[in-house]
Amino acid sequence: MPELPEVETIRRHLAPSVEGRTLEHLDVLDPRFSTPLAPGQLSAALDGRVVERLARRGKYLIFELSDEAHLFLHLRMTGTLLIDPEPPRPAHARVVFDLGDHELVFVDPRRFGTGELALGDAARDAFLDARLGLEPFDEAFTTDHLRRLAKASRAPVKAFLLDQKKLAGVGNIYADEALYRARIHPLRITNTLRRPQLDALRSGVLEALEAGIAAKGASIDDFRDPYGVQGSFQDQFLVHLREGEPCGRCGTTVVKLRAAGRGTYVCPRCQPVPRRRRPQAAAARPASAPARSARTSSW
Ligand SMILES: [Zn+2]
Repeated sequence: MPELPEVETIRRHLAPSVEGRTLEHLDVLDPRFSTPLAPGQLSAALDGRVVERLARRGKYLIFELSDEAHLFLHLRMTGTLLIDPEPPRPAHARVVFDLGDHELVFVDPRRFGTGELALGDAARDAFLDARLGLEPFDEAFTTDHLRRLAKASRAPVKAFLLDQKKLAGVGNIYADEALYRARIHPLRITNTLRRPQLDALRSGVLEALEAGIAAKGASIDDFRDPYGVQGSFQDQFLVHLREGEPCGRCGTTVVKLRAAGRGTYVCPRCQPVPRRRRPQAAAARPASAPARSARTSSW
């Protein structure tokens, strides 16, 4: 699934061809894309408006059109956008944006991609606030901010990173890369992370995302930029998909495990398995040792 760097790559490629153009017609070929709106309702709301800005928030690409009409495009699993593809029309084309001198085609074999409408800036903000936490590159994403979020989470840290309401834009690839950089095991419980680790995690997230954007995204599934070109970040993964290969830092063999329901890659030496939490050990201690309990409680 495209994550922040892939969507940002698309945005940067497309913006010059899209911004300032009039959306002559939005042709929704697959009604599932616009649900709950019918295709005709979505195009009636957008046709004839100027694309003032192509924005991104988390994994959403946002077409900001004149008079505060906003289209949130989410690529989900297999969505790609192609600008001016050669005829015939590509297989699995689901939506065609007629922009006058350009044609933008949304291609999506698995059909999970969505286009949602918000009319008015207040509706746009409400849509995003209900779904997304801070942008990683927002200057408000500080270690203190991360610490407040982490303190409230008893989830494993990988699941925490994938939660778009905590932090927007990080998915399976960049969570693995960030945790490896920060030397944190993905199953570590988030609220047990100490400040230096949260510092390292914040840096790890930013560095992984920056590297992904610099490489124009990762193409491991269907990701292509709007000209059909693959990104190259998959060639620079430090740990993701590197099962059986030596860790670049310590030489230990990278292993694959499951975390947050996803295939997850770790260096077992750089990212040690979390120790059991003390409350569980205390609960297992026999009740006939009160003196010891009293002593250990002052640790
Ligand atoms: Zn290592």
